[in-house]
Amino acid sequence: MTIDKYNFKGQKALVRVDFNTPLDENGHITDDTRIRGALPTLKKILADGGSLILMSHMGKPKGKVNPKFSLKQIVGDVSCALGVDVAFAPDCAKAQEAAANLKEGEVLMLENLRFYPQEEGKPVGIEKDAPEYEQAKKEMKQAQKEFAKTLASYADCYVNDAFGTAHRKHASTAVVADYFDAEHKMLGYLMEKEVEAVNNVLNNIRRPFTAIMGGSKVSTKIGIINNLMDKVDNLIICGGMTYTFMKALGGKIGQSLCEDEYLSLALDILKNAKEKGVNLMLCTDSVVADRFANDADAIVCPSNNIPDDRMGMDIGPDSRQAFAKTIEEAKTILWNGPAGVFEFDNFAHGSEAIAHAIARATQNGAYSLIGGGDSVACINKLNLGNQVSYISTGGGALLEAIEGKILPGIAAIKGE
Ligand code: AMP
Repeated sequence: MTIDKYNFKGQKALVRVDFNTPLDENGHITDDTRIRGALPTLKKILADGGSLILMSHMGKPKGKVNPKFSLKQIVGDVSCALGVDVAFAPDCAKAQEAAANLKEGEVLMLENLRFYPQEEGKPVGIEKDAPEYEQAKKEMKQAQKEFAKTLASYADCYVNDAFGTAHRKHASTAVVADYFDAEHKMLGYLMEKEVEAVNNVLNNIRRPFTAIMGGSKVSTKIGIINNLMDKVDNLIICGGMTYTFMKALGGKIGQSLCEDEYLSLALDILKNAKEKGVNLMLCTDSVVADRFANDADAIVCPSNNIPDDRMGMDIGPDSRQAFAKTIEEAKTILWNGPAGVFEFDNFAHGSEAIAHAIARATQNGAYSLIGGGDSVACINKLNLGNQVSYISTGGGALLEAIEGKILPGIAAIKGE
C-alpha cells in the first residue's frame, strides 16, 4: 500500500516516527528537523479523518526507564508543530485503553520504545561470549514478537516514517509490520523521499555520476566505496582518508591521520578503480597545519610530501579547483563526508568549495544527494540546504542503503 492511496478516515494509524531529537540540559529541543520531517505524513492522516498513535525512540536508555530520555519532554513541541493537543501514554506497552479511546483527529504519543529491551531485541546485561547468550537471545526474539504484537494491537494500520532507524530490525521498525497485511502497512512520505533519493543515485543514474567521499576514515567508507565503484564515473576521495592512500602510494604524510592497517586495501581500491574505468581523484595538494587547532600555522604542500611535523587538515587550492570542475560537469552527485576539518573555519574552505560546486551543478540540472552526518552539517552551515536536490535525514541508514544493503524497515513493508 502507499500512503497516498490509503484513506485514513476513521482509522487508527500506528506511525513509527524518528523523534530522537537533540535536547539541551533542560530538556528543550535544540533542533526540530526530525519533527518537521514527519509532518507531511502526520498531517495527511489527520486531514483524512484518522487518528495517530506516534511511537519513537529517544537516545540510548538501554532497555531501562530513564527520565532523561522521556518523550514526554517533547509532547508540547509536537503539539505545536501539529496544531493538535497530543496526549501521552507513559508506558508504551500498556496503552491499549488510551489507544482504544482515540477519536477522529486525536493524537496519542507513546513513551520511549527503548525503555523496553524488546524494542531492540538484544539481551541486556549478558556478554556476547557468555554461554547463556544464545538462549537469552532466542528468548528475547520471542519477547520482541510479543512486544511488537502489543504495539500492533493498538491500531488499524501501520506507517513507517522513521528513515533514521530503517537499517535496524527493531520491534517498531520491522517486526510490528508482520502483524499487518500488505493493504494496511506503508511507508510515510519522508521514507518515500529517502527511498527515491537512494534510487536516484543507485539505479536512476544520469551521467556523469560523481561521488565525493570525505570524512576521517577509510575503514567506515569501504562498503560504500566498493558498491559505488560499479556505478560512478568519478570518485573523489578527500578528507582525512586521503593520507592512508598517500602513504600506501609511498608518500610522506607527516602527522596526518592514517589507518596503517588499511594501506593494502587503499591500493586495492585504486587498482579496482583502474580496472573498472572509474576516474578516482585524490587530493593532490593539502593545507597542512602544525597542530590540530583553528589558529594553527597553515601552509599548502603536496599531499604526498608533508613535513614530518605537520598534518593534512584540508584540501589545497589545486584540488579545490579540480574537484569543483568535475563536480560542475556532473549530472548525478553524491556527497558524503567533509573534505577537511570543517569544524575549524580555517580548514573549511575545501568543504565550502565542494558545497558551492554542488549547488552550481544542481542549478544546472544535476541531481544531488547529500547524506551522512557531517556533510549535512556542512551544507547547512553554509546555508546551501535549499540549493541541493535532497539532504538525507538518515546517517547510518543512508550509508547502508548506498552500500546496497536491503534495509529491514523498508523490506518489512515492501516484502523484499
Ligand atoms: P566521518 O564521520 O568519517 O564522515 O568524518 C567526519 C569528520 O572527519 C569530521 O569531524 C572532520 O573534522 C573529519 N576530518 C575531515 N578531514 C580531516 C583531516 N584531514 N584530518 C582529520 N580529520 C578530518
